[in-house]
Amino acid sequence: MITQQMEEVLEAVWTAKEQGGTTWKQVASMAKVSLTFELIKSLLDEHLIEQKDEHLNLTPGGNELAREIIRRHRLAERLVMDVLGVDIQEAEDNACEFEHSLALGVTDSICTLLGHPTRCPHGHDIPEGKCCNQARSDVKPLVLPLTALDVGGTGRIAYINTRNFPRLQKLSAFGISPGVTIKLFQKSPSVVLQCEETQVALEPEIARDIYVRQQE
Ligand SMILES: [Zn+2]
Ligand SMILES: [Zn+2]
Repeated sequence: MITQQMEEVLEAVWTAKEQGGTTWKQVASMAKVSLTFELIKSLLDEHLIEQKDEHLNLTPGGNELAREIIRRHRLAERLVMDVLGVDIQEAEDNACEFEHSLALGVTDSICTLLGHPTRCPHGHDIPEGKCCNQARSDVKPLVLPLTALDVGGTGRIAYINTRNFPRLQKLSAFGISPGVTIKLFQKSPSVVLQCEETQVALEPEIARDIYVRQQE
């Protein structure tokens, strides 16, 4: 039986590792629950983590489970941010509450609905699901890369999928930022779009980082 508290610890071990640390102390600083000896013991008993000296690491089984939890959490964040329009601080609390109640099948549907985002609003990688590799999908995405719009199509920018700040600044200098409505004029050789009163031409590589909510 994996409790919610155990899931929180697995998530913390994953996040600590992502940021380069595996010590008990580093994991504790990431955890939203207090890292008690009993909690660690229950994870050791379930063979989800291994302990060596002061280091905590995920076992292959624990890694698989943590990956799924992280995926749910970060997709939940994207969902509350992009679809419900809730700000990031509140998103953290809400996402944390309902990540535990999202079922596996639902996770992939949400991923598809959001256009298979690769990063959460904090810029962390979202582990890929099966849906991300499937060409065909049953759910029409609500949010999709700008380059997936038809020429002549209109969309409202949901988010920009980059951690490259100079690039973000450049885009925002053009007026390209979340919430703004744009119209796509051309896809190649460069991507040309209308943003407010301005026409902007972008390299396709940059345009692919812009995710929009399609408008009818
Ligand atoms: Zn996040
Ligand atoms: Zn996906």
